[in-house]
Amino acid sequence: MINADSSSIPFNKAALAGAEFDYILRAIGDGHVSGDGFFSHECSHLLEKVLCLHKALLTTSCTHALEMAALLLDIQPGDEVIVPSFTFVSTVNAFVLRGATPVFCDIRTDTLNLDERLVEKLITSRTKAIVVVHYAGVACEMDAILILAKKHSLFVVEDNAHGLFGKYKGRYLGTFGQLATQSFHETKNFTCGEGGALLINEPQYIERAEIIREKGTNRSRFFKGQVDKYSWVDVGSSYLPSDILAAFLFAQLEKRESIQAARRAIWEYYHAHLHTWASENRVRLPCVPLHCEQSWHMFYLMMPDLNARQALITHLKNRGVMSVFHYLPLHLSEMGQRFGGRPGDCPVTEHVSDRLLRLPFYNSLTEDQLSFIVESVTSFCCK
Ligand SMILES: *Cc1c(COP(=O)(O)O)cnc(C)c1O
Repeated sequence: MINADSSSIPFNKAALAGAEFDYILRAIGDGHVSGDGFFSHECSHLLEKVLCLHKALLTTSCTHALEMAALLLDIQPGDEVIVPSFTFVSTVNAFVLRGATPVFCDIRTDTLNLDERLVEKLITSRTKAIVVVHYAGVACEMDAILILAKKHSLFVVEDNAHGLFGKYKGRYLGTFGQLATQSFHETKNFTCGEGGALLINEPQYIERAEIIREKGTNRSRFFKGQVDKYSWVDVGSSYLPSDILAAFLFAQLEKRESIQAARRAIWEYYHAHLHTWASENRVRLPCVPLHCEQSWHMFYLMMPDLNARQALITHLKNRGVMSVFHYLPLHLSEMGQRFGGRPGDCPVTEHVSDRLLRLPFYNSLTEDQLSFIVESVTSFCCK
């Protein structure tokens, strides 16, 4: 057993998949360490092939991929974008940067995803897009969302930061919206420290995406020999990660099966060893509908109330186990309130935000550590 005094278990820890250093040395040796070198293309091709995409472009973060999505969809001041309140700020900020007004939608109590049954009454003549987040890599109800989007001519963007290689009714997440985004931040299943990708499901966006990503220039057409000089043709910014980061990322993506298998084993261990304790303590474990194949991104506990959640965090911390909570409802944040967010607007989000607790979850968690975490959790009683 692990002695909690000498070795604590962090919430997250980046792990090497194998070939990271070899590939980084190769990228440097090739002499091309800026963006769109050999390893960037390897990562893009892998994502395109596995997910059956028109195009995958690596970006410096998921946040930047979301900003690119907002630019590509020509989001303008006054446009409304329907977003979940229970998400990371970037899901919303990327659109707010373009002048859009976020319209916060509540979530389902089971999957904690955008509640598709509440979307239609939020649609107005100004609505341009629905942004979905596949929370914990469990799919949103995409059939219903796509029907609504079609009926009202709205774009759909998937913030798939949690859900790479997860599926909805047999189809990969990230392939439903016009555009989707991935994160390769340290806390995600596959990482290069900081990184992301924009997934493009409709070919008409590809050329402009390449321009926006290259400072508004047609540099990528120049490299393909399609124009004889490159120049400034559109708005844009610098969204390419270095090939050194892509080299790191490729080493992780090529090991996707063993990484996902390791994460699946962690998730299943938690589930198997905690469900009796959970039912005796009014704690709810994650819900994965049968038609969703999750991505094994996280394991959370839904505690009965805020006090129990805070007490369990402290209880675990005293044993050297780091647990965390997220997200604070965006509609109640300082920015959210400037857009008119008020308590009670998204009651499920508000309730969940007080009660959710995430257990340590990373690729290199060992069975000894898992068993120590489980013992630590089950020695806690909800009053
Ligand atoms: C991590 C995360 C992001 C941001 O990813 P970065 O790569 O750090 O920009 C966006 N949305 C969600 C849902 C996330 O979990």
